Amino acid sequence: METPESRVLARTGEVQRLARDVWRVVAPNPSPLTGPGTNTYVLGRERPVVIDPGLDDPAHLERVLEAAGGRVSSILCTHSHPDHSPGAAWLRERTGAPVLGRPAPDDGFQDRAYAPDATFEHGQRIEYDGEALVAIHTPGHASNHVCFLHEASGWLYTGDHLMSGSTVVIIPPDGSMRLYLESLEGLSARPVRSLVPGHGALMPDGPDEIARVVRHRLAREGRLVAALSARRLATLDDVLAEVYADVPAAMHGYARYSLRAHADKLVEEGRARLEDGVYRWHDL
Ligand SMILES: [Zn+2]
Repeated sequence: METPESRVLARTGEVQRLARDVWRVVAPNPSPLTGPGTNTYVLGRERPVVIDPGLDDPAHLERVLEAAGGRVSSILCTHSHPDHSPGAAWLRERTGAPVLGRPAPDDGFQDRAYAPDATFEHGQRIEYDGEALVAIHTPGHASNHVCFLHEASGWLYTGDHLMSGSTVVIIPPDGSMRLYLESLEGLSARPVRSLVPGHGALMPDGPDEIARVVRHRLAREGRLVAALSARRLATLDDVLAEVYADVPAAMHGYARYSLRAHADKLVEEGRARLEDGVYRWHDL
């Protein structure tokens, strides 16, 4: 059962107890994209696992180690973006625990020091303290992204697949909107109750939130389809301000990545063509 603390906003640098043996430690990297900072989770009491060590910041990692009682059985990485995995080497050095995560692509957006000792297969169980997590491969935000489901509670540790308070950025070609939506739909077959994100507070109504995110993405796609079909030929910059008219202009640099991901999905589905940076719309 979660504590009342689990639902309050995660606060930069804070350690919060979310359930009997679940701790959230918020890394000191607040920003418009990361919310209060990256959430590092500690699960278990005797031999805890750590999910997403976050920054290579000794003060943050000491707080993580203290929450874990100084003992860690495994260090799990949802993916290898530089706000999630760089603390893994420090924790491995201090505890001897292996770092587990899927191999990283080389797209210039990854933690360069990321070096997992082993990978996860889709559906693999990770045992700790008589409990288990199931690793669910969820490509989309990143090709090596994994969510971890604690089936006994229905808590899904979502990394950057789903976050509270901000929209997940999809950066092609490693990020894929088509795979992102497929990964979201794949979660509907799982016994998910609450979402425990890599940024922000716990979201108690997991299935509702997943459905809301899918609707939001498809509505954005609809705006792009309208903008492209009105023009027939357009570059991303021709349609960016129109498709993201509801998003502050200061965020349009990030929005452009997701816009490209939406446009690439239309190309993959045969609904548009791309030639020399110009998208050509054609009705089916
Ligand atoms: Zn990320």
